[in-house]
Amino acid sequence: MAPFPTEPMAVPLLDLKAQHGTIRDEVIAAIMPIVDGQTFILGEPVERLEGLVAKLSHTAHAVGCANGTDAILLALRALDIGRNDAVVTTPFTFFATAGAVHNVGARTVFADIDPDTFNISPEAVDEAVRNTPDAKAVIAVDLFGQMAAIDDIRAVLPNGMPIIEDAAQSIGASRRIDGRKVMAGEMADIGTFSFFPSKNLGGYGDGGMVVTQSDQLAARLRRLRTHGSVKTYFHEEVGYNSRLDALQAAVLAAKLPHLEAWSAARRRNASLYDEAFADLDGVRTPMIDDRNESIYNQYTLRAERRDDLQEFLKKRGIGNSVYYPLPLHLQPCFAYLGYEEGDFPESERAAKEVVSLPVYPELIDSQRDEVISAVRAFYGR
Ligand SMILES: *Cc1c(COP(=O)(O)O)cnc(C)c1O
Repeated sequence: MAPFPTEPMAVPLLDLKAQHGTIRDEVIAAIMPIVDGQTFILGEPVERLEGLVAKLSHTAHAVGCANGTDAILLALRALDIGRNDAVVTTPFTFFATAGAVHNVGARTVFADIDPDTFNISPEAVDEAVRNTPDAKAVIAVDLFGQMAAIDDIRAVLPNGMPIIEDAAQSIGASRRIDGRKVMAGEMADIGTFSFFPSKNLGGYGDGGMVVTQSDQLAARLRRLRTHGSVKTYFHEEVGYNSRLDALQAAVLAAKLPHLEAWSAARRRNASLYDEAFADLDGVRTPMIDDRNESIYNQYTLRAERRDDLQEFLKKRGIGNSVYYPLPLHLQPCFAYLGYEEGDFPESERAAKEVVSLPVYPELIDSQRDEVISAVRAFYGR
């Protein structure tokens, strides 16, 4: 039998138990009526959460679904994207972004990232769309908690070409556009969220949501999440079983009022790291666009000798991870798309250089100091 780990991580990458400890009573009070009522799928708790998320996101509608991957899938289907269509997106993202495109039968066309923000470059989107006559939509990903340049992307797209904003990592993030605070999901045709437990707003299981300003798209999304049916047992189209559980919605509604404070705590941790690493030549701290307010779902450095740094931190009991080690255009399952190494140099370079450090809101001062002294020690400071 494999031995149990002898010591817990001194500073884990994420500490969900610490967060749970601060809200346990609220969560239990929220879920017990549902347990006793035995009504588990959709219903009032989901409608309530949809209202709260629509308000947060400044959107007319929010539609709960099973997870953040399905949220993208539902968005693509609602926009009638399928076979013979191409969708432009970034290769430097979690797999699900392009996985969803594949699963509606469409073809992914990648466009490289901006090396500062790690988000898709509007210039690269422009070029990709011009070179792809069957391009029908763009998926912009708000990576690591920072919104993509949704306004600049909109500006380069042909009129009417829809944008899906994969905000799985960025609920509550914002961007100043024309002097106004625009929330993640607000300016896209459809914005998508994930409530996977490790996201900045995580459920106690899988969950997801789509947001939109369009009444028509909202109605279509609702229909698609329940097997394409509005009236039970009558089906206008073939949809999915992709609903949000009432229990997850109740947990998330209990957590949502804390989100702003959690995001502020993440930003504080990030700014203390920024300061502490400012004099290190070996690392580059995250660059946040002046217009953006990040919620730092991840705090991601570019690091010299990245793999050695990872090993060093691990030995010191400091959790860390590489999001993401292999860009999507080089994934074996997407070999059929015909891309090669060298096609997206910025994404490939990022995959070799990035490492994410613990930034979660419950991180205590002594833990943060441990992370700081370990990184500094690795670079000889
Ligand atoms: C987590 C994530 C998803 C998928 O969300 P799930 O709820 O795990 O299905 C999609 N896109 C991005 C960028 C993500 O980080």
